[in-house]
Amino acid sequence: MTRPLASSASRRLHRFTESVIREQTRLAQVHGAVNLAQGFPDFPCPPALKELANRAVTEDHNQYSITWGSRGLREAVARKARAYNGIAADPETEVTVTCGSTEAMMCAFLGLVDPGREVILFQPFYENYHPDSYLSGAKPVYVTLRPDLKTGDWTFDEKELRRAFGPKTAAIVLTTPHNPTGKVFSRAELEAIAKLCHKWNVLVFSDEIYEHILYDGARHVSPASIPGLQDRTVTIGSASKTYGVTGWRVGWAIAAAPLTASLRKVHDFLTVCAATPLQAAVEGALGMPAEYYRAMAGEYRERREYLMAGLREAGYNPFQPAGAYYIMAEAGAFLKKKGGPRNDVELARELVTAAGVAAVPGSSFYRSGSKALTQRRDDLLRFCFCKKEETLRAAVERLKAFR
Ligand code: GLN
Repeated sequence: MTRPLASSASRRLHRFTESVIREQTRLAQVHGAVNLAQGFPDFPCPPALKELANRAVTEDHNQYSITWGSRGLREAVARKARAYNGIAADPETEVTVTCGSTEAMMCAFLGLVDPGREVILFQPFYENYHPDSYLSGAKPVYVTLRPDLKTGDWTFDEKELRRAFGPKTAAIVLTTPHNPTGKVFSRAELEAIAKLCHKWNVLVFSDEIYEHILYDGARHVSPASIPGLQDRTVTIGSASKTYGVTGWRVGWAIAAAPLTASLRKVHDFLTVCAATPLQAAVEGALGMPAEYYRAMAGEYRERREYLMAGLREAGYNPFQPAGAYYIMAEAGAFLKKKGGPRNDVELARELVTAAGVAAVPGSSFYRSGSKALTQRRDDLLRFCFCKKEETLRAAVERLKAFR
């Protein structure tokens, strides 16, 4: 008889579940549903990028790069950071290429946060930060973003933010443009956060993966460009969303040399390096002309308009995002029917199986536990619109028919 295992999961894993976003993608495939859950494009990436990647493989850029990234890509990231983000970074000591921004964030947590410390998250938060906190032994502390029902802007209460900081706080995670709400943090908001970081000696982990996807004249402000934050901020970016290559897994972290040294240590032992030929291709991509970024944001704007209107027609109350490519929508109208779904999780399940559309239940972006304590909402769904026109059209038709 084989001896039963003492444990099939480390204690670290007890505090979180698998990704709901990625589970919805799996369910969409099982049920043949249109996938508006996981944020990745279903249209081709720019042809120039394919050529760059092909060429890199053919020219034999096929071995490990230097662990913290090929020199050419680090230099290209540093140039972009200076020009677009207003951040001065030395490519030798302050830029690290990672396997997507997901790895960059994990490296920041593992390399810079001690077990037992606290990390502040704005909720709703991008799912990954929660496991990132627990895997590094940190305790997440939450500050709630609330939508203005008229303008669709999500804001926080400064008092609540102040209360979240304390002697145990190691870092605050910022996402701008924000996933899932589309909020673009203003300079004034970032300055208020900077003051508290200074007072409590706290680091900023800034996820800026949607930095080029902005609407209605919104401007991207990088936290590291705010006076006082440059030396305490890890700025995380990626090729994934800007160039529509989420499967390439090429991202980066920019941080002052002492912080970079720590996160590079984690990165080296975790993944060694990002895919070398794709690093070469992304180096080329970073040189795309300004027109590429304008056109890309313009196309996403059209998709946003289309899905906003479609969701309204289908009975939802969507909040208009100022950036990124997700729409949070109130689905309360579907939760009041007798015998129908009681909350967002049940509704999302029904949508994927009966209506043929996958969305993400809003509660997966909130801390679990009693609603009163967590400000968690269970009447929201997140829909992404980084999809072909025909995909969005099919989704809207199905949602309307389901109504
Ligand atoms: N950022 C994407 C989303 O929010 C998913 C990224 C991922 O699954 N790694 O849908």
